[in-house]
Amino acid sequence: MAGLKNTIIRGGLESLYFSGAHIALKPFVAGVGAILTLHHVRPPRPGRFQPNRLLEVTPRFLARVVRSLRRWGIDIISLDEMYRRMTEDDFSRRFVCLTFDDGYRDTLQWAYPILKKAGAPFAIYVPTSFPDRLGELWWLVLEAVISRNDRIGLVIDGRDRKFDCRTVAEKRALYDELYWWLRARPTEKEMRSVVRALAAYYHVDVAAFCEELCMSWPELAELAGDPLVTIGAHTVTHPMLAKLSKEAACSEMDLSRSVIDAALAVRPEHLSYPIGDRGSAGAREFAIAAELGFKTAVTTRPGVLFREHSQCMTALPRISLNGEYQRLRYVRVLLSGTATAMWNGFRRLDAA
Ligand SMILES: [Zn+2]
Repeated sequence: MAGLKNTIIRGGLESLYFSGAHIALKPFVAGVGAILTLHHVRPPRPGRFQPNRLLEVTPRFLARVVRSLRRWGIDIISLDEMYRRMTEDDFSRRFVCLTFDDGYRDTLQWAYPILKKAGAPFAIYVPTSFPDRLGELWWLVLEAVISRNDRIGLVIDGRDRKFDCRTVAEKRALYDELYWWLRARPTEKEMRSVVRALAAYYHVDVAAFCEELCMSWPELAELAGDPLVTIGAHTVTHPMLAKLSKEAACSEMDLSRSVIDAALAVRPEHLSYPIGDRGSAGAREFAIAAELGFKTAVTTRPGVLFREHSQCMTALPRISLNGEYQRLRYVRVLLSGTATAMWNGFRRLDAA
């Protein structure tokens, strides 16, 4: 299913590129700039079952994107500078912000040297439970459980279910099914307790993912000391905020800012909503972020930035550099705004 979807999206990006539609429509849909979303940057890994591969690009691809942005005359700017241009109506040059979610160690190891050498500013959104080593990277727990077993059992809607996952195709299908079932749980608490039960039963060490993959506070401090780097907030426990009570959502955002301030002596002024889709962040979260005084907050709703976004700076869309589509021509189509305009029905703002 995921494979088919990827093929369709790739086909769409290819036809927009080769038909020239991205050039014809660009003046109407390109907006003033864009914010790019990245997660992992690391060399490709072997293995055919990598359901989270969309969350990683190679260092080589990142370097090519940075070089190309410059060649296309696009400024790479910090979130503060983006805020200034948006609020001061300074749109003389197109711009892109580079943002990395979750604070993975490979941001320091692979992305930082490339961006440092290029003098390109970037932001890292840190969920504070990750460097505190209490984070639950539940999507990786699910991947590990399915990867290491041929058959798994799970109670779904009160019924004991068994799933075969011997072959790579079965593993991919099962990952997809369970991932979206988990995402659809009405509360974050229920989703986490299912994942914890799976981890305990199938002996997957939840804490190990944090230790292995996420930066520690000293590593984050190393980056925070560089003026190229903006440290942003990404809540404490990385929940789908829209599923929490208003008080809990508010405290996730506010507390994460205080923890980062205490640990790194920088008070984040920018926020990224975890998961960041419609089911994770909506009008209520956008209002809370504004009330808490964040200058900007980003979703993962796909889109480029238009002038009009200066009216809703805590509901900004982004464009994901997706590991399944590591081609410069896709980046070109995405930055032209054409693909996302079609996705959004040519509506510019989507802040509800
Ligand atoms: Zn995240």
